[in-house]
Amino acid sequence: MADTKRDYYEVLGVDRNATAEEIKKAYRKKAIQYHPDKNPGDKEAEEKFKEAAEAYDVLSNPDKRARYDRFGHEGLGGAAGGGAYSASMEDILSNLSDLFGFDFSGRGSSFGGSPFSDIFGMYGGSQRGGRRVNRGGDLRVTVKLTLNEIATGVEKKIKLTKYVPCEHCKGTGAKDGTAYTTCSTCKGSGRVTQVQRMVFGTSRMIVECPDCHGEGQRITTKCPYCNGEGVVRGEEVISVNIPAGVSEGMQMSLEGKGNAPRHGGENGDLLVVIKEEKHPEFERQGKDIIYHLMLDYPTAALGGKVEIPTLDGFARIKIDAGTQPGRTYALRGKGLPSISSPGIGSLIVRVTIYVPEKLGRDAKEKIKALEELSDVKPTPEAKKRILGR
Ligand SMILES: [Zn+2]
Ligand SMILES: [Zn+2]
Repeated sequence: MADTKRDYYEVLGVDRNATAEEIKKAYRKKAIQYHPDKNPGDKEAEEKFKEAAEAYDVLSNPDKRARYDRFGHEGLGGAAGGGAYSASMEDILSNLSDLFGFDFSGRGSSFGGSPFSDIFGMYGGSQRGGRRVNRGGDLRVTVKLTLNEIATGVEKKIKLTKYVPCEHCKGTGAKDGTAYTTCSTCKGSGRVTQVQRMVFGTSRMIVECPDCHGEGQRITTKCPYCNGEGVVRGEEVISVNIPAGVSEGMQMSLEGKGNAPRHGGENGDLLVVIKEEKHPEFERQGKDIIYHLMLDYPTAALGGKVEIPTLDGFARIKIDAGTQPGRTYALRGKGLPSISSPGIGSLIVRVTIYVPEKLGRDAKEKIKALEELSDVKPTPEAKKRILGR
């Protein structure tokens, strides 16, 4: 038989380097074209339909696809090759429903929409060979970061309390990991067909098996350590590398670091949400950080040097004589990086002038003496120059 088989890529009409998504799309097209309900009694269409399912079975599985690419059809035969493909029409139809969320049996989509619309992820678990694969819940943790940590990036150790597989039953929930049996209701497929009588005929719908909840297996004796859940509460310390330049509310998703599911399967994800801690001196504005400098009147009037804090120490800046409140000095490269754009922001020094609130007699006299000087009085020209009006 093997030598009469058509090339799988040719069957689906895709390129040899087609992506998983392209293969899926191509299969969907063929499945709709040759579906038995659209071609009743057509033997040739049925053969094409089966051929497409077989091609998809191989090309959608990275391992089988690699073997097929190297060795052709021969690479898939025999026990070492994972067995020859043999799926019943029932299996193919069931898998189609899993894959695309449609079923032609009721002369239409069982989900009410068009079979041509994309409906993926109808079930809580992902599908593998028709049986449901449980997926654990996602976890969400908030990580507080200082501006200094944001500036450099940081590795954070996070202690998580979460569901982990029970070690006594290897996460299955069955005593010793072996006390389960194939579900008799669905014969291990995890699916059952529900037939509904409708005004214009019957509608067949493939649904999750109610007796095993799609798992295909039933526990005969529960593991006493986890009470048959397959998971227990546990702790895990994980370390997360947070890149420089993140900001408040950003989320990082760590695949498979969330909760373990009941009865084995895929872990959920861990979502790390970034929270910025307030800095005592600085305000963040994107890549820039703002520092409010309170300047005394003599320095503002005469000019001078002042020391200001930076994220990694101190810097001295030169204040020009006649510096007005609201003036800014920018220290380039003393701000923050960003994960979305290159370069480092600035440290912006914004000047306010301190007007003394309590004066001793001596200070009072000296300031009074200033009043006599016309230089300290704003002229209409200065007002226009500084305020612009
Ligand atoms: Zn079942
Ligand atoms: Zn257990």
